[in-house]
Amino acid sequence: MASHIVGYPRMGPKRELKFALESFWDKKSSAEDLQKVAADLRSSIWKQMSDAGIKYIPSNTFSYYDQVLDATSMLGAVPPRYGWNGGEIGFDTYFSMARGNASVPAMEMTKWFDTNYHFIVPELGPDVNFSYASHKAVDEYKEAKALGVNTVPVLIGPVSYLLLSKPAKGVEKTFSLLSLLPKILPIYKEVISELKAAGASWIQFDEPTLVLDLDSHKLQAFTAAYDDLESTLSGLNVLIETYFADLTSEAYKTLIGLKGVTAYGLDLVRGAQTLDLVKSNFPKGKYLFAGVVDGRNIWANDLAASFSTLKELEAVVGKENLVVSTSCSLLHTAVDLVNETKLDDEIKSWLAFAAQKVVEVNALAKALAGQKDEAFFSANAAAQASRKSSPRVTNEAVQKAAAALKGSDHRRATNVSARLDAQQKKLNLPILPTTTIGSFPQTLELRRVRREFKANKISEDDYIKAIKEEIKKVVDLQEELDIDVLVHGEPERNDMVEYFGEQLSGFAFTVNGWVQSYGSRCVKPPIIYGDVSRPKPMTVFWSSTAQSMTARPMKGMLTGPVTILNWSFVRNDQPRFETCYQIALAIKDEVEDLEKAGINVIQIDEAALREGLPLRKSEHAFYLKWAVHSFRITNCGVQDTTQIHTHMCYSNFNDIIHSIIDMDADVITIENSRSDEKLLSVFREGVKYGAGIGPGVYDIHSPRIPSTEEIADRINKMLAVLETNILWVNPDCGLKTRKYAEVKPALNNMVAAAKLLRTQL
Ligand code: GLN
Ligand code: ZN
Repeated sequence: MASHIVGYPRMGPKRELKFALESFWDKKSSAEDLQKVAADLRSSIWKQMSDAGIKYIPSNTFSYYDQVLDATSMLGAVPPRYGWNGGEIGFDTYFSMARGNASVPAMEMTKWFDTNYHFIVPELGPDVNFSYASHKAVDEYKEAKALGVNTVPVLIGPVSYLLLSKPAKGVEKTFSLLSLLPKILPIYKEVISELKAAGASWIQFDEPTLVLDLDSHKLQAFTAAYDDLESTLSGLNVLIETYFADLTSEAYKTLIGLKGVTAYGLDLVRGAQTLDLVKSNFPKGKYLFAGVVDGRNIWANDLAASFSTLKELEAVVGKENLVVSTSCSLLHTAVDLVNETKLDDEIKSWLAFAAQKVVEVNALAKALAGQKDEAFFSANAAAQASRKSSPRVTNEAVQKAAAALKGSDHRRATNVSARLDAQQKKLNLPILPTTTIGSFPQTLELRRVRREFKANKISEDDYIKAIKEEIKKVVDLQEELDIDVLVHGEPERNDMVEYFGEQLSGFAFTVNGWVQSYGSRCVKPPIIYGDVSRPKPMTVFWSSTAQSMTARPMKGMLTGPVTILNWSFVRNDQPRFETCYQIALAIKDEVEDLEKAGINVIQIDEAALREGLPLRKSEHAFYLKWAVHSFRITNCGVQDTTQIHTHMCYSNFNDIIHSIIDMDADVITIENSRSDEKLLSVFREGVKYGAGIGPGVYDIHSPRIPSTEEIADRINKMLAVLETNILWVNPDCGLKTRKYAEVKPALNNMVAAAKLLRTQL
């Protein structure tokens, strides 16, 4: 019985790759230094998997930046603006595409399916001259072989590569990406032949796009591609790996019909119908790589449950043809639990990071082969049982409150126009009211104060004093700038999710639980392990302190339940929506306490609402229903005179505009720098019902200071589409990553632009 790992995190247990990359980019170390760190990481990963007993160990899942960019390099598909002249692609060209250089910006980046990983989007047009320009896959295979590990080289499959690309500028509307298939397959053939010559006996093609809603034209591209590769692949065992969801019946039929393919990798953690598909029809003699160990979470596998699933599968596909695997690459989980010295022992026993998942996969494979490690299985069963019965997981009051939500709609009693009238009487705002999204620049000094307070190096009194001074500075600045609705600047927050997670029950935090987000960037999501509740108010002290410093309205600032959920590792012992409802109830308490403390405007950020959208269209409606409902729960109890804002970061709202309206916020501020017109026309249709809307008037991601004229021009364009009385004037997002030298003049110009237009209306 065999075991397989789809892919492994590259960053290293202590983010070694991140630091090596950043030091190289800062010219503090050489290319050789970077290559050495990378080679050490690869060899330790291969060794770890081989020591664990894994039979099919992947190579070429390491990357200096991103695996899709690696495929772009392999194919020589460098956009001409990077000035590459052929030959093997080196760090210069590679990192220019990834990060831009002095004269050319980076290529576009987008989310990898519904994960928090971002990849560099290939840009392809009819004139791309493909050439075999990066031998990385073959080099890594040889490197592992020299270390004594015969790996399975992993390539992004040709069809997924094209489906994840975008047409180059100028041919957006007319160009069919799939028409490039005959041009890229020759390069794939060269790579395959070299791998064969180097001694590879297996090859893995990641074709995750197979889990999307594909029309028959796209499905046929898979058939055509593997038909064409068949003769080159002969002599190799070929694994087509899919992940992140189950397959539609049509996609499954396409998959098992592919020529030259010997094995299918399926995600058995996500999606409901994979088992049925396999049972209904599995081709004789082929291998099933059964992804039973979750690559997207940090929970220890329920080995007994997986074992029985595997037994069922064994009966269908045959003992010799079943391979135990992960549901997807382990890239999306944290690296090694060994480094978590601060986690409570009981909670730690419930967890498995990548290194532990490798061991689980192998233990399952051995158990199937009749060599069950009884001690390992019973320790696992004990941990599963402790997780089920632990008093830290269950909070009956929370469960009751969440159960009581069923069947109710949770809407504010009055409609939005009437509410806005009531609010206006209290707030007395000018037309085109100005505001900001929440955070102000986070200076080094501020970070130091927070760090020292956390480490008990300064007293609570000193900490409070320092934060109060910072808030006062931010309030004074906003008054000086003459902004209408103020914020306190969020100086006490490290991160918009962590800050709340630390104060809510049911959350745990890791020291090294980093997951790559893009390039050298990693995030450390909190772990939601139990029922969520709010032991005491979280933001009321700071918001009322800030309000006491000004006569202008001060926005209370909260992170919404959907965003807290989407940016955390969540429980797998109850549906996501149940966890979301619990968070919603905790935030609801906070909203009501803020209102009682005299805060009249409360912003509930849902930066990540859009990105939680499921991969399959058939699941969108359900997700949006509970996500939007969760948001409404947080504020359905406030008075008409309390103004609820929400803020969202993603600019593509076309498909979900009705859900955004259904959130029933009084004011919606949104990031807008990337797609002006589209966004506005969507909102013209959508916001006929009258809520306030603040599409960002300038891009906070750039240090550039926009002029008054430029901002006024932008607002004018918005006014051409939106009603004057609903338009708000604000930046795109929080200002935390900017410097005061940028923020002050930019906000000054923003207010000047609003004032200028007020005189003209
Ligand atoms: N209120 C948060 C801030 O201003 C919102 C951040 C976000 O939307 N990502 O920083
Ligand atoms: Zn934002």
